[in-house]
Amino acid sequence: MQIAIIGAGISGLACAQQLRALGHQVTLFEKDGEAGGRVHTWQTEIGGFDLGAQFFTAISDNFKKAVSSWRKDGLVMPWHGRLVRLQDGIVIPARPSSQRFVAAPGMGELARHLAQELDIRTGQTVVRIEAAQVPGNWRLALKAGGMETLTEPFDAVVVATPGDRAAALLAPVPALAGKAELTGHVSCWALMLGFGQPLKLEFDGAWVKHHRLAWLARDDSKPERRNGERWIALARVEWSAENLKNGPARARDMLLKAFQEATGTSVQPVYSVARLWNYAQSTRPLAKSCLWDEKLRIGACGDWFTAGLEGGGQIEHAYLSGLTLAARIDEVAKPILVKPVRAAAIRVAASTVNSADGVPAVMPAVGRRRAASAGGR
Ligand SMILES: Cc1cc2nc3c(=O)[nH]c(=O)nc-3n(C[C@H](O)[C@H](O)[C@H](O)COP(=O)(O)OP(=O)(O)OC[C@H]3O[C@@H](n4cnc5c(N)ncnc54)[C@H](O)[C@@H]3O)c2cc1C
Repeated sequence: MQIAIIGAGISGLACAQQLRALGHQVTLFEKDGEAGGRVHTWQTEIGGFDLGAQFFTAISDNFKKAVSSWRKDGLVMPWHGRLVRLQDGIVIPARPSSQRFVAAPGMGELARHLAQELDIRTGQTVVRIEAAQVPGNWRLALKAGGMETLTEPFDAVVVATPGDRAAALLAPVPALAGKAELTGHVSCWALMLGFGQPLKLEFDGAWVKHHRLAWLARDDSKPERRNGERWIALARVEWSAENLKNGPARARDMLLKAFQEATGTSVQPVYSVARLWNYAQSTRPLAKSCLWDEKLRIGACGDWFTAGLEGGGQIEHAYLSGLTLAARIDEVAKPILVKPVRAAAIRVAASTVNSADGVPAVMPAVGRRRAASAGGR
C-alpha cells in the first residue's frame, strides 16, 4: 500500500520503519525542518542541549528489544548521572529506578537513526486530509511557503501528531476526531544554560521542588557529549501555563533566577536561551495503543496513547503506539498486497505491561499523576 504519515516524531518514525519492513511504500510529511519532534538536540557553538526528552526507560519487551539493538549499534547508552531530588537547597538521592538511557551524542540522534532510508518531506505542514474520489483513498492538503497544494492519493493515512492537532486533522472521520479531542495538553518552557566554568554541583540531574522549576540536568554528564558545563532547566507546567504569553527573553530571565535559587549558584551563564514547547504532553492519554478505522484506512498514533503501559507521554508510549498501528494497517493490507509479506518483518503485539517500578522519565506520568509538573518523576 501507499501510506502517508503526518508527523516524523518517534511514533511516526516507528510506524514508518515497521510499515516499510512489511513491504509498504511510506511517505512522511513533517512541518519542521527535520525529523524528531519532541526528541530534539538543540545545537549551539558551545555544544548540544537535549531540549525535549531528557532520557528514557524501557518497560515493555518490544521496546526493550529495540533498545537492545540500538545499544549494539552504539546509538543508545545508559546514563549514569547522579540524580537527586532538590528541595530548599537540600539534596536527597533519587529512588532507584529502571535503567535510564540516552542517545549519543544527543537525544536527537535517535530520531536521525530512525529516519534513515525513509522518504520524509520536511517543511510541509498538513492542513487537511481530504477524501479522494476512490473511497478509502486520501489526499493531503499541504501548506509550505504560503502556498497550498494537494498530494497524490494514498491508500491509507496515519496521523502521528500530538493529540490536539490530530483532532483537527481527523475531522473527516468524526468518530476518531472525537476520541483525539479527549486528550488535553500542557505546555512547557525549557531553559538552556552554558557556563564558562564548572558549577561543581553534587548532582547531574534533579527533580526540583520550586515554584518555577521542575527538572534540571547537566547535559555534558550524558555519554559522548562535548565537554563544557551545559544545563537544561524545565519549568513546572503550571508556571509555563501562567507564562505562555511571556516572550523567550522574559521567560529566560525568570527561569535563570529560579535556577540560581534552586542550585545556590550565582555564576552568570555565557549562553542562555529559553524555548517554549507549546505541546509538551497530553494530560489525558487514551487507554489504547492507537486509533484505526480499517474501512476508511485512516488512523492515529503517538504518545497520547497508553500503549499497554501505565500513563502516557513518553518515548516508549510513542514508539509502541507507532509499531502497533503499523501492524493493524498491515492486517487490512494483506488481501490487496501483490507480494506476500516479508519474513523479516517483526510482528507486534501490544503487551500489557505494568511499569510498577516507577517510570522515571522526565515529563510527569500522566494518567497516574496528572501533569503536575514538567519534571515530576
Ligand atoms: C520538555 C520535554 C521533556 C520530555 N522528557 C521526556 C523524558 O525524559 N523521557 C521520555 O520518555 N519522554 C519525554 N518527553 C516526551 C517525549 O518527547 C514524547 O513522548 C515523544 O517524543 C512523542 O513522540 P510523538 O511522535 O508522539 O510526538 P512528537 O514528537 O510531538 O512528533 C509529532 C511530529 O508531528 C509534526 N507535526 C505536527 N503537526 C503537523 C502537521 N500539521 N503537519 C506536519 N507535521 C506535523 C511535529 O512537528 C512533530 O515532529 C518529553 C517531552 C518534552 C516536551
